[in-house]
Amino acid sequence: MAKPLWGIDLGGTKIEGVVLQPEAKPNVLARLRIPTESARGYEHIISQIKKVIGMLSVQTGLQPELIRICTPGTLDPITQTLKNSNTQCLNGKPFKQDLEQALQISIRIANDANCFALAEANMGVVQEILPKAEVVFGVILGTGVDGGVVVHNKVINGRQGIGGEWGHNVLDVSGGPCYCGKTGCVEKVISGPALENYYQSISGKTYVCQK
Ligand SMILES: [Zn+2]
Repeated sequence: MAKPLWGIDLGGTKIEGVVLQPEAKPNVLARLRIPTESARGYEHIISQIKKVIGMLSVQTGLQPELIRICTPGTLDPITQTLKNSNTQCLNGKPFKQDLEQALQISIRIANDANCFALAEANMGVVQEILPKAEVVFGVILGTGVDGGVVVHNKVINGRQGIGGEWGHNVLDVSGGPCYCGKTGCVEKVISGPALENYYQSISGKTYVCQK
């Protein structure tokens, strides 16, 4: 039987971990999430990931040999540091190297929207509604706004590792200044927090997200 796969989805507000048996219909052995608490900084995020791995190990009685992590932003193919992450404390950091040192486990890192787009193209909704689609654009509207492009079932990473990233194209100046230096980026207009602010501005009510 194939070895279980370990995966982590690192988000701006939560970290979700899963251990699954790779079958045609993957069998989930354990799955859990904890808050990212990104405001507490880079080292804390690493310790939170370590905590998730520890909790999954306890639940399954297994130890990982390799962990695959999807993150906001991407590892720069040249410098091997993270960039373009809306969890800004990750930017400029050798995240893969630091995680491997902290966990003493091999790590593979990929952009979260690329993983999402690839999964939907090969196994998810695209297979259900448009299985012959040659080009798939997957979009994540979360703490940030991410995108991934899949052509003929392969992710287009691009030379700079940011293929499909559309969050920092200017959409509408009403979005206001962005941490990237521009004004009105896609991410400042249609991310989760931006839509919450918009709802509040027109309704006077605070939107309470059902998490
Ligand atoms: Zn921006």
